[in-house]
Amino acid sequence: MVLEKLSNSLKETFNKIAKAIFVDEKLVDELVKEIQRALLLADVNVKLVFELSKTIKERFLKEKELQGISARERLIKIVYEELVNITGTEKSEIVIKDKKPFKIMMVGTYGSGKTTTISKIAKYYFKRGYKVACLGLDVHRPAAPDQLEQLCKKINVQCFINKKEKNPLKIYKEFENMYSKYDILIIDTAGRDSLTQDLIKELKELNEKIEPDENLLVMSADIGQAAQNLAKGFHDACNVTGVIVTKLDGTAKGGGALTGAAATNAKVKFIGIGEKVDDLETFNPEGFISRLLGMGDLETLLEKAKEAITEEEAKDIQEKFVKGDFTLLDLYEQMKAMRKMGPLTKIMEMIPGMGQLKLPKEMLEVQEEKLEKWKYIINSLTKKELENPDIIDGKRAEKIAKGSGVNISDVRDLLKQYKQSKKLMKMMKGGDPGKLMKKFQGKMPKGFKF
Ligand code: GDP
Ligand code: MG
Repeated sequence: MVLEKLSNSLKETFNKIAKAIFVDEKLVDELVKEIQRALLLADVNVKLVFELSKTIKERFLKEKELQGISARERLIKIVYEELVNITGTEKSEIVIKDKKPFKIMMVGTYGSGKTTTISKIAKYYFKRGYKVACLGLDVHRPAAPDQLEQLCKKINVQCFINKKEKNPLKIYKEFENMYSKYDILIIDTAGRDSLTQDLIKELKELNEKIEPDENLLVMSADIGQAAQNLAKGFHDACNVTGVIVTKLDGTAKGGGALTGAAATNAKVKFIGIGEKVDDLETFNPEGFISRLLGMGDLETLLEKAKEAITEEEAKDIQEKFVKGDFTLLDLYEQMKAMRKMGPLTKIMEMIPGMGQLKLPKEMLEVQEEKLEKWKYIINSLTKKELENPDIIDGKRAEKIAKGSGVNISDVRDLLKQYKQSKKLMKMMKGGDPGKLMKKFQGKMPKGFKF
């Protein structure tokens, strides 16, 4: 988990809000202090931390009259929104323009992760159907071209290098007639231990001659508070359009790089969370903070749910439920929809509150296993059996079990689930749902819900 310590402190703070008997100014003061401490420990810029504290307090008092929302909810909402705010509010994606090539230049100090990140980004866009090439202009470090070449080989992406040439602009020109064959050209540049005058000069020149569409500053998460000045310096040299924070997997100090960047107007586009080529995530402030808070990434969950089942499909199933003509096919469709959303353990993590419930792992795993078996069973049913499961007697059940490679008890389990759901739906037509739920408690297979 990225920024685990910060995450734990913030979760504790939120638990306190949830459990407090009185949500008043005193509590707000106490919490603000805790949040300050946690953010400072993660190396978030001091000025930002104090601004955030002030805003939280001011908003809590000012928004008192918000109707239909309790003080507790108001406080959670404010703290959440302000935390999102310091990492940049909106998701800021790179828009790849339709020109050949779209040039992305990577800049940053030595060892920040430029070359590694280039291969990650090359793969990211390659997977999305773009024709990608990389260009090595790090003439400073002798091993740099080889490193880029090897990384590119691994992901099957074209790599332009010249190990002998020491003038980066000459290398750029050498391959100039090749670039238009590619949708995206990612350019590796040299770093120094810090932003020195000769690096500034080099980047200025490259920026003027190459005219990149994006200049991405790569910063390692462990630089902490130094991020802000560094970002400003690079911005002055070559107009930084976005930031990538790497090595967020290895430090508790990432708050500096994540928030320092926002202060210079360049938004964080990607984060690096490991050494491997797939250890890259697009940065979404809301999702990121939600996960830190253990609130779950509601937006992502909703998006996935949308993909899994359309509103109309949901309505359809609901109608069938109400009418009581609910077939195994419908059960299957629902299960398919659930499966599309990903493993249950992942889904639980994304539902607000559920992440903290700490459900026993066995339970979730058993359920997934069960769903998997039911999928095999349903796949092996005839259409007749699907539409009218009542015709499945002992003999048929045995045949189905054999055909789908499961135990006969699994087939019975599924049929039981189906019958109970159907019965429940029928009773829902008239009865009191509250009473019904009581009646059915304990009858449903453990943990299975629609
Ligand atoms: P450059 O000098 O800026 O090109 O930096 P490199 O790409 O050569 O990376 C320097 C070191 O950081 C290498 O050992 C990388 O494997 C490592 N590195 C880069 N990104 C990450 C990351 O997100 N997480 C971790 N743990 N290591 C990273
Ligand atoms: Mg490099």
